[in-house]
Amino acid sequence: MILDKEYRILVVDDAKDTQMLLEFDLSAAGYQISCCDGGEDALVSLGTQEIDLILLDMYMPGLSGLETLAKIKAQVISAEIPVIMLSASTDEDEVVAALELGAGDYVTKPYVTKVLLARMRTAIRLMEKTAQLEYLAKTDFLTGINNRGSFFELSNHAISLASRAGQSLVVAMFDIDFFKQVNDNYGHDAGDQVLRVFSQGMTEVFRGYDIIGRVGGEEFAVCLPNTNRKNANIACERFRYYMEQLSVGIITNNNNNNNNNNKRNINITVSIGLVLAPKGPLTIDELLKQADRALYYAKEHGRNQVVDDRIVATIDERDKTVASPINTDDIDKNNHFQENIIMANYDGIDFDIGISNVLGDEALFKEILVMFYQDHHLDGDKLQRAIKQQDFDSVKHLAHTLKGVACSVGAMDLFEVTKALDIAVNYDKKEDFDSLFSQLSSQINRVMKGIELALDVS
Ligand SMILES: [Mg+2]
Repeated sequence: MILDKEYRILVVDDAKDTQMLLEFDLSAAGYQISCCDGGEDALVSLGTQEIDLILLDMYMPGLSGLETLAKIKAQVISAEIPVIMLSASTDEDEVVAALELGAGDYVTKPYVTKVLLARMRTAIRLMEKTAQLEYLAKTDFLTGINNRGSFFELSNHAISLASRAGQSLVVAMFDIDFFKQVNDNYGHDAGDQVLRVFSQGMTEVFRGYDIIGRVGGEEFAVCLPNTNRKNANIACERFRYYMEQLSVGIITNNNNNNNNNNKRNINITVSIGLVLAPKGPLTIDELLKQADRALYYAKEHGRNQVVDDRIVATIDERDKTVASPINTDDIDKNNHFQENIIMANYDGIDFDIGISNVLGDEALFKEILVMFYQDHHLDGDKLQRAIKQQDFDSVKHLAHTLKGVACSVGAMDLFEVTKALDIAVNYDKKEDFDSLFSQLSSQINRVMKGIELALDVS
């Protein structure tokens, strides 16, 4: 018989003659052997070398065979190694005790070489099959990363560790934008290729100890231990950018072209929602639900962006107290990580939303507001003119652009009414234009006035 590899066997027996006999027979069969005289030595030895199978004598001075077995099975490093007990006795109670403690098999001495080797092969094959099944049970077959079950298990473990150590932890959800179109336009093989490239990108961009997993069809998640919200935003933004600029090579099944396979490159983008775990007992399930709400917001507001849970909290808060201004202190009170957000008062702008879109960089946000003002403060007049002249292409273009930038600077009321106008244009509801325009006009004046008052925009 030829072995798949050189398996290493640890022989634990106080009798030198048995050790020598086993060494001779097992080496001849292609195994590598190390020997220990007793249980204590064996436990030390298991910590220093990799062993595939243990042959353990039942009767030894010092730690008995059963005591040694119990200790082997109790320590993580050796718990999975198969053990075959060797004994001159055929005491049934002893055999049962050994099997109950986790021995894989029981062989009586003097052993028959052929029988012992057959039992060793079986024990090793069983261990390998078990390891393989465990791997398959935990791994997503397509992408090779953690599947949903394994992601949940590992993340819950990380969450409880973080909670005990008082460390912050972030969970993010990822959804590939327009993934259905990849499948529809290029076929499922192309879709699978995109999923593989996406997973590989996650493995490359995130750290070795971050937990990544595929949690749905085109949905992925990452659990970032010992990470604050700011750094999680940066990491997710880095990944978003990585995907955006990546050209994914796919093979399309083009049935109209003599069944020839065509290579082509496509670009994909990703929407990301993340949540900083609040203090207290939580499960990955609950955190993913919150991250999912931020993700939904990202999807609803143009995709290809990172949104964190503060936006969702801000919206909830606003829904609760319609007229009162948002207090970011309340939102951050429950979190481990306090950021230095200086409240500024721009009328019509949710500062918290706007600044989180630029990862908390206030100077950058101010620059963006100035640019927003310069580029768009005449949009009201332009829209009015276009509506009057029935230039609906221009109305559409102006409303669509304004909708996007209003959202990114956090002008949420302006965003809502611009969105309504954008929809009305798309559905050709001309009867709604005038009333929507007058709301839009007052919102745009309000926002621009607010910026004028707070910043030097001349
Ligand atoms: Mg003995």
